[in-house]
Amino acid sequence: MKAVRVHAPGGPEALRFEDVPEPQPQPGEAVVRVEAAGVNFIDVYNRTGLYKTAMPVTLGQEGAGTVVAVAPDVRDLAAGDRVAWFHALGAYAEKAVVPATRLVRLPDHLSAKQGAAAMLQGMTAHYLATSTHPLAPGETCLVHAGAGGVGLLLTQIAKRRGARVFTTVSTEEKARRSKAAGADATIDYTKQDFEAEVKRLTDGKGVRVVYDSVGKTTFEKSLACLAPRGLLALFGQSSGPVPPFDAQVLSQRGSLYLTRPTLAHYTATREELLSRAGDVLGWVADGSLKLTIEHEFPLSEAAAAHRALEGRRTTGKVLLIP
Ligand code: NDP
Repeated sequence: MKAVRVHAPGGPEALRFEDVPEPQPQPGEAVVRVEAAGVNFIDVYNRTGLYKTAMPVTLGQEGAGTVVAVAPDVRDLAAGDRVAWFHALGAYAEKAVVPATRLVRLPDHLSAKQGAAAMLQGMTAHYLATSTHPLAPGETCLVHAGAGGVGLLLTQIAKRRGARVFTTVSTEEKARRSKAAGADATIDYTKQDFEAEVKRLTDGKGVRVVYDSVGKTTFEKSLACLAPRGLLALFGQSSGPVPPFDAQVLSQRGSLYLTRPTLAHYTATREELLSRAGDVLGWVADGSLKLTIEHEFPLSEAAAAHRALEGRRTTGKVLLIP
């Protein structure tokens, strides 16, 4: 079968579309025929070596499709079941081996593309807005990269909780997308000083929470955007990692909180995984959470998908179709 593997860290050219052996399920595992694989920024970190991964590796942490085989000890899944998952490497392939405990059943009326688009970024948006800081009606927040995969979903979930949401974006088209997702105001952080804009929009008070996935280029000003005792949820580094940091700054800027959360810790038990997935997939199914799927690439063109994501040319979800 075909898969996209990386043999040594590098740029998009390090992604090789090649033949690999058919996967066999080991105890506790299922083999899924992948109908759609999600492309996420973590795949870029795995490819470049920012996040260490044993190589060669089949990339991809998110997918959806149909179960074709299960290990004898897997009792609650069978061939033919439609499933989705995240946080199991190997989705950039025609078939993937996934621990059964990571698989979530897809509701009947959701497609594999919707499943692959909703899981990782949707659950991330869910935990950020409901657990890292459970947003309350009337609270203010700033979402960086508001037209990105996580950004569009986080904006919608923050709005359904009644928050006032400001976002940053890099183009007019992205501003339009972000507003359509519910943003109360958008800031073009490539042209405007987003700290000054946030202060203006909040009458100098600052926001309760900043959700920062951009990292290096936004981190310092994100802290400056917070109201006293506000929270910075630094959950990514699309522009590069944040340099070492003096914790005293948190005191000087107003007894601030800083967290660096990760989805794995917010879906650590099967119960929590199913509860968040139930919410996210349920909202997609009832139409109250809109997915934006406009960037689909054949599996063989994974490098082009990575170039588009890293080149800031995408909005919403990027999918690979085997
Ligand atoms: P996005 O769709 O948000 O794409 C990244 C966006 O970041 C770009 O579209 C761009 O938006 C913005 N950006 C700003 N500066 C840069 C830069 N120098 N290079 C590239 N992009 C830049 O990606 P995802 O939704 O997949 O992921 C968003 C972030 O969230 C990533 O950092 C990812 O690692 C993180 N993440 C963290 C998780 C966690 O649990 N901690 C889970 C899931 C994702 P614009 O053009 O508008 O500036």
